[in-house]
Amino acid sequence: MLQQTRVEQGRDYWQRFLRRFPSVEALAAASEDEVLRLWQGLGYYSRARNLHAAARQVVALGHFPDTVEGLRALPGVGDYTAAAVASMAFGVPAAAVDGNVYRVLSRHYGISTAINTTEGHRLFAALAAELLPPRQAGTFNQALMDFGATLCTPRTPRCTECPVAETCVALREGRVEELPVKLVRHTTQVRRIKYIFIRCSGYVAIHRRADDDIWRGLWEPYVAEDDGKKTAETAASGTSDPVSGLLSSSVLLAHDVRHVLTHRVILADLYLADTAERPSLPSDYLWVPESSLDDYAKSRLVERLLALVPKV
Ligand code: SF4
Repeated sequence: MLQQTRVEQGRDYWQRFLRRFPSVEALAAASEDEVLRLWQGLGYYSRARNLHAAARQVVALGHFPDTVEGLRALPGVGDYTAAAVASMAFGVPAAAVDGNVYRVLSRHYGISTAINTTEGHRLFAALAAELLPPRQAGTFNQALMDFGATLCTPRTPRCTECPVAETCVALREGRVEELPVKLVRHTTQVRRIKYIFIRCSGYVAIHRRADDDIWRGLWEPYVAEDDGKKTAETAASGTSDPVSGLLSSSVLLAHDVRHVLTHRVILADLYLADTAERPSLPSDYLWVPESSLDDYAKSRLVERLLALVPKV
């Protein structure tokens, strides 16, 4: 929950989540819709889906996995989380390498291999494993992370107070500022989406996003155009708007609303169509009372857009 989220904001989510799901069994028994609704606003919804799927896997297994391999097999658990949980909770001798550890090791040993490359991952994982005291793996992992978070910080590390300054290669060679090295990747893409809020006698058309795209399982208003993904209807008809003419007769409420995701920027337009009759929409759209929209989990972008729709 705290990834990309401030503690003050995350705390409320955590408490609400724990009140509703006090045990793994309670989480496993919930519907995905309910889990997403409680997560709404935190972003990165795949984490909520993974947490839910992991709870179901743990319940099916009958116990919480206590090995790196067992933990790694849970949805959403990668090398770092598996090693951190295994070492801290179960005393397994596994090195957990997070951003702090990359920074400390690269500075102390003067390593300029980029930390976000396969070669870098291998090299730092091997070094951390070599340094790990097998009987105190959890303590070592936590100490290294804390050291990176409090002393060997990204900016202005406190080298004068550092207990390992004497053996620090980066300090000796004046390279503290330039380490760790990270390759800059320019992969940001722009995706444009045009939504139409179609309203008819107090009802609104919404649909659930498909499995193979961003915001999987979340709800949104009618998508007239999406240059990142053509709908089946669009591809079949060859037009940009499956419901012919709807876009041109709608009122533009917001243009180029910007939403930043990890590797792309979404620019969204929102239109409003107040119609006397329900237009025929693709089969995955539902008509729901406008007053019940809060019951459906939505992306943060869609939340922001819906706040712009004038109430009737
Ligand atoms: S001397 Fe400075 S750069 Fe080197 S490990 Fe200590 S805090 Fe980090």
